[in-house]
Amino acid sequence: MNEQSSGATTAHGGSAAAGPLDPIAEKVSACMQCGTCTGSCANAFAMDYTPRQLWRLVQLGEQDEIFRSTTFWMCSSCYYCTLRCPRGLPLTETIQALKRIAFARGTYRSKTSPVFYSTFVDNIRRYGRVREMDMMTRFFLRLKHPVAPLRFASLGVKLLRKGKISPQMPALFAKGKLDGLFRKVRELESES
Ligand code: SF4
Ligand code: SF4
Repeated sequence: MNEQSSGATTAHGGSAAAGPLDPIAEKVSACMQCGTCTGSCANAFAMDYTPRQLWRLVQLGEQDEIFRSTTFWMCSSCYYCTLRCPRGLPLTETIQALKRIAFARGTYRSKTSPVFYSTFVDNIRRYGRVREMDMMTRFFLRLKHPVAPLRFASLGVKLLRKGKISPQMPALFAKGKLDGLFRKVRELESES
């Protein structure tokens, strides 16, 4: 039996929230399902469950459904839902926690977003900032999907034309200097 299905069954047929999901369920327990978060989210159209539906799944302890969902991988951490929630719930923080748990468990339908996030953070840790060309090369190598570079090609050309990314490798200025910061974040995450 895997970790996802180890919880007790709820009246709604899902697995009861247990372990790492407890603090998350607590954070959204006051959600009144008003839908303001969904109405505020610019990415809701791309999500399989809207943010409001995700909170309901969390309240019901539907772990399997939650971790099968693409919703939190589509979240761009803009904080708009958090800003507008009439209950003042820490929604973006909660979505980030779900991403961390899903990543640690390896439970995600598509690996594109998790691999992108992980490569992005590795790049910052390695160089002190994102080196776009280096990051995208590592991203494609880790994705191991031969067609993926083609899917990003037109976006890459647009960004290059607008000067948003540079083909040159910028000078390194903080290699290894962020290790302490990353350690601290890990400590805080393990406490949350
Ligand atoms: S805005 Fe807040 S209270 Fe309303 S559905 Fe979203 S999380 Fe729940
Ligand atoms: S933080 Fe995420 S879920 Fe909230 S509005 Fe922004 S993209 Fe949507």
